[in-house]
Amino acid sequence: MEKNNTKDIVNKYGFKFSKSLGQNFLVDDQVLQDIIIGAEVNEEDFVIEVGPGVGTLTKEILKVAKKVYSIELDSELIPILEKELGSNEKFLLMNKDALKMDFNELIGDEKSVKLVANLPYYVTTPIIVKLLTEGYKFKSLTIMIQKEVAERIDAKPGTKEYSALSLLVQYHCSTKIIRKVSPNSFIPRPKVESIVIRLDKLEKPKVIVEDEKLFFKIIRASFNMRRKTLWNGLKSLGLDKEILERGFQTAGIDPKRRGETLSIEEFGKLSDSIHSLL
Ligand code: SAM
Repeated sequence: MEKNNTKDIVNKYGFKFSKSLGQNFLVDDQVLQDIIIGAEVNEEDFVIEVGPGVGTLTKEILKVAKKVYSIELDSELIPILEKELGSNEKFLLMNKDALKMDFNELIGDEKSVKLVANLPYYVTTPIIVKLLTEGYKFKSLTIMIQKEVAERIDAKPGTKEYSALSLLVQYHCSTKIIRKVSPNSFIPRPKVESIVIRLDKLEKPKVIVEDEKLFFKIIRASFNMRRKTLWNGLKSLGLDKEILERGFQTAGIDPKRRGETLSIEEFGKLSDSIHSLL
């Protein structure tokens, strides 16, 4: 791997960083290499990258992938990317807000689709939620995100990091932490530490439930009222008291437990038993 030239490109074009767009560009060759190895991208893969910046990571993905489609919101970066990478036939670029995209328009009938990105921190969670809930056929998502969010994604029941986000991600994916990344690996230096995590889409969800919408409504309601009992959390769903009581009973779950102690399988059981009473 050749040395990255992030700083040179930034200086060459006199690029001014925008804090509000979460612009922290990678300047660490080892981290770049670990992302590429961790993502396991090969020449059959169509890679989507959110937020290419000046193309530091893009350039490395282009060496191994079949095609790279980068989506960048900052129009100041578009001419820079076109000049630096435009001559590469494998590179496609779109000036758009990733949060407002229908990714199927890019994916078309591509068979092996992977997402690789150093995500802008201010929209990490909404982007992950969008990518997982809109039914795109990604094989995997290898993303750099702030450490706290990665720990929430990877959390087990009964820990303080365990949350509705843990359950959403673990419902759709298996998770693997690739590495930690220090603030010194970026310009400008972010305030937080980062983690590169890979999410591999499961063939089928971790638990099969009768009503997915109800399942996630129950999960959200359980975590809205952290440190309160499940019973208090689920009251907000506006269900008949008797249905709720019988639902807990049939599922064999004590309503006095707190939401953050339930495994994904237990949330599945609770959701199915409430569903069967509706
Ligand atoms: N990939 C580059 C790197 O690793 O050096 C830059 C990563 S930087 C953390 C995040 C990038 O996402 C920035 O280029 C920023 O302009 C872009 N960005 C921010 N919000 C975006 C959005 N909603 N849609 C697409 N790109 C966005």
